[in-house]
Amino acid sequence: MPAKELSPIQIYKLLPCTNCDECGETNCMAFAAKLVNREALLEECKPLLNPEFTEAYAELWALLKPAVKAVEVGTGENKLTLGGEYVLYRHDFTYFNQPAIAIDVSDEMSDEEFETRVHVLNDFSYNYIGMDLTLDMLSIRSTSGDPAKFAETVKKANDLTRKPLMLCAHDPKVMEKGLEQVADKRPLIHGATKDNWAEMAELALKYGCPLVAYSPMDLDTLKSIALTLEEYGLEDIVLDPGTQPIEHMSTNLDTFTALRWDSINEEEEGLGYPLLGAPMVAWAVAEEDPVLNEWNEAQIAGALITRFTDMIVVHGISGWSLLPQIFLRANLYTDPRKPVSVEPEVITIGSPTEDSPVLMTTNFALTYYTVANDIENAKVDSYLLVVDSEGMSVESAVAGRKMTADSVAEAIKEFKLEDMVKHRNIIIPGRSARLSGEIQEASGWSVSVGPLDSSGIAKYVEEKWNPYPE
Ligand code: SF4
Repeated sequence: MPAKELSPIQIYKLLPCTNCDECGETNCMAFAAKLVNREALLEECKPLLNPEFTEAYAELWALLKPAVKAVEVGTGENKLTLGGEYVLYRHDFTYFNQPAIAIDVSDEMSDEEFETRVHVLNDFSYNYIGMDLTLDMLSIRSTSGDPAKFAETVKKANDLTRKPLMLCAHDPKVMEKGLEQVADKRPLIHGATKDNWAEMAELALKYGCPLVAYSPMDLDTLKSIALTLEEYGLEDIVLDPGTQPIEHMSTNLDTFTALRWDSINEEEEGLGYPLLGAPMVAWAVAEEDPVLNEWNEAQIAGALITRFTDMIVVHGISGWSLLPQIFLRANLYTDPRKPVSVEPEVITIGSPTEDSPVLMTTNFALTYYTVANDIENAKVDSYLLVVDSEGMSVESAVAGRKMTADSVAEAIKEFKLEDMVKHRNIIIPGRSARLSGEIQEASGWSVSVGPLDSSGIAKYVEEKWNPYPE
């Protein structure tokens, strides 16, 4: 049953209903609501673990488990979760685990190229509205087919990065040599085909690793491999249905959409696993200029992040191709139920004095970072009052009464602005102009209406700021 269709009452009926508050909630209904929203774990209800509730626990677990199994790769602080999704579209509920981006290396690359790629993986970081956007995994291919060479390459990779690994070799002998180097790191094994699935399944069980089922452009065989692996005792499986070059983008979209549709809406057996896409297939096409390969790869990556991969492997490492991918991913995998917000507070920008301007904005992250960056870049020494608007932008917050004259007056008081400046004059965003009179009345401060866009703040302050208006 899709997550959006679960109601707290369905869950409540299966709980012990004693309102004992051991879970931290005052009653079972409150805990049921949290379970439905995936804000609590079943195990937090200790009485439910008693033998008398074994059946209820199993029923609850079946109701609450994600349609796409959550598969963990790696260990320790860099451990990743692939999948674990409940819905096809984010607006139906939310997505939980953003697709991992893996950088491709092979056992025939020069040391220089290999190390450059691993350093990009380790060091790539971009701060975007308060989030550090990074890359996630290293995908190591055996292109030589030589077990010793693959082992040496896996060892080198393991020495250079703490990020989770995917080992790619379809010869089980080559794979085992690689696995021996990172036996305790739980790498993802790529992969089990119709020809080698038994040996690969043995390796996955022996080393306790998740295994990719791989059947390019043959979904029936893919499903059959997954079901066979399940029967063999494997629980952590990832599906790779093959990725096509840019000319066949529609095939990629059809394939990944069909797989995710069947797993979530049809609950089809053998398909409820994370999906792996390989935009790096764009490099298999001989282009005159490698920039074209990277450009095509970025387009395939974007499409697959949107439709519905849980992990992609890319070969290009240029900032211009990786940045759009991580931005797209970050924006798609925010929770639509909770606007991206920052803590309400007063921040100081530059070295403000007691006569410096006091500006105001909301705590919607995108608005906050845009305004703060504009003021910082313009070198306006000032205080910025960040008012709690429940994460809404200025216009929406004013229209929806999430930011009112009273909440602004309270924020002025709570964050002790009167101790920071001598004047009593605040510049409010142009888009909240209609609150100016009420703020003045509620706070006792003079209110100046600033520009509609924060890019105009520097000019506004230079031309109009007067801490002590007549
Ligand atoms: S611990 Fe379980 S039984 Fe106790 S209140 Fe929470 S949900 Fe109810």
